[in-house]
Amino acid sequence: MAKGKGKGKVIGMGGTQQQPPTAQLKLDPTKLETVKCDNCDGIFFQEVQMFKEVPAVQSPTGQKSMLPIPVLRCTECGSVPERFLPKELLG
Ligand SMILES: [Zn+2]
Repeated sequence: MAKGKGKGKVIGMGGTQQQPPTAQLKLDPTKLETVKCDNCDGIFFQEVQMFKEVPAVQSPTGQKSMLPIPVLRCTECGSVPERFLPKELLG
């Protein structure tokens, strides 16, 4: 029942409206190359996480912890394309 109230605060009338952040990104997905699985040419991926152990001395909390690293895995064959998982991470 907020409509019809003539008095009170007027919000957003004539004010500068903030553009949503996505408006800056003018990419046309139809003109972009589809990322395919190196193994099976699948085009669907799901995000999974791998973890790196953080030694206590390097941890901000001073305690041994784990650092999650998001990687993408092919939903068809389960392989992780190297472009999503740099070799350096597989130590
Ligand atoms: Zn695959």
